[in-house]
Amino acid sequence: MSRVSKVETFIVTVPRDTPYLGPLGPGERVNGRGYVVRKGNGTLYPTVDRSIAVRVTTADGSEGWGETYGICAPRATCEIINDLLVPELIGRHPDDVEQVWDDLYGLMRVRGCTGGFHVDAITALDIALWDLRARAHGVPLWRMIGERRREHVPGYLSGLPAATLEGRVAMARQFHAQGHDAFKIHTVVSSEGIEEEVAALREALGDEALLMVDLHWKFPAPEALALAERLAPYRLHFIEAPVKPEDIDGLAWLAARSPVPVAAGEEWYTAYEAKLRLDRQAVRFIQPEMGHAGITQFRRINALAEAGGVQTAPHATIGAGLFLAASLHASATLPGLWRHEWQHSVFSRSLELLETDMAYADRSYRLPSGPGLGARPGPRFWNYAEPVA
Ligand code: MG
Repeated sequence: MSRVSKVETFIVTVPRDTPYLGPLGPGERVNGRGYVVRKGNGTLYPTVDRSIAVRVTTADGSEGWGETYGICAPRATCEIINDLLVPELIGRHPDDVEQVWDDLYGLMRVRGCTGGFHVDAITALDIALWDLRARAHGVPLWRMIGERRREHVPGYLSGLPAATLEGRVAMARQFHAQGHDAFKIHTVVSSEGIEEEVAALREALGDEALLMVDLHWKFPAPEALALAERLAPYRLHFIEAPVKPEDIDGLAWLAARSPVPVAAGEEWYTAYEAKLRLDRQAVRFIQPEMGHAGITQFRRINALAEAGGVQTAPHATIGAGLFLAASLHASATLPGLWRHEWQHSVFSRSLELLETDMAYADRSYRLPSGPGLGARPGPRFWNYAEPVA
């Protein structure tokens, strides 16, 4: 295998009719840059599906693909890749990917760039290097990462993007009738009330279905505890992201008292961040996001969780499907995997952009076959990809 000789960055933008998380609610508007601030949690979301893809080429002409978040200010991440990271990546060897991660992270750690756009930029490159490494060895990515513990990666349905509670219940019933058995609701759009929504879904889906509630970091810890106590009779599998990401004390306090298990972690970038929570027994489920953590940190975060007996429910977000493919490979190797999130409204769209046999059927993801990621940009990808120099 030869060394890295070229890196290209692309912003991939796919329009969508209905904004992510559902139609605009009362008082919500799209601003001049195409973002909406959701009233439910004060968070900025784009009205398109967008991510950043990278193609890393080695001197022998081999190509690896990676991807990271691009939902907000994608040019910032591209600039970090091109201006800061690429000059230090050229000439490095894909077999040294973990050392490369440490070196690229080290470039900016004393300036406080220990997450955010900087680590997203590293993540795109990290996935591409793992893809190159596996391809050079002629094996699927999971084999490069570890032992495959399962043939398929079990999933759970996430999000019921309808405008009203009635519509969301109808959507859930439809999925239930198709055989889906685990549902997570996004309370940032539960405008009729969280308890009302959980009660209606439990009623509609019966006793057997698994129910999870994403609280979108909305609550002070005491309020989250009071809510967890009110929701406990509906037998939730977990509540997710109950308190603000930086409130580690609140998360640990809540986890020690909540009658419903607590999940968190989609916003974490590194094992350093995970350790601060895991050392405090602040979560029962971690939800690492491949698009933020990359394969190198996804593995390190999971190693910490496993040592503490914490289960993993990997997060799925808006993307072109490349980091999702990486997440499935890594998830297939995890001893402590619970289920992987299935964002049905994103996943089916991303498949149209790729050449891959990855799929979702019978409540589980089919792992992509073929070398490396087992997923490559297909012809439609190029309709939506804008190169950024
Ligand atoms: Mg979430």
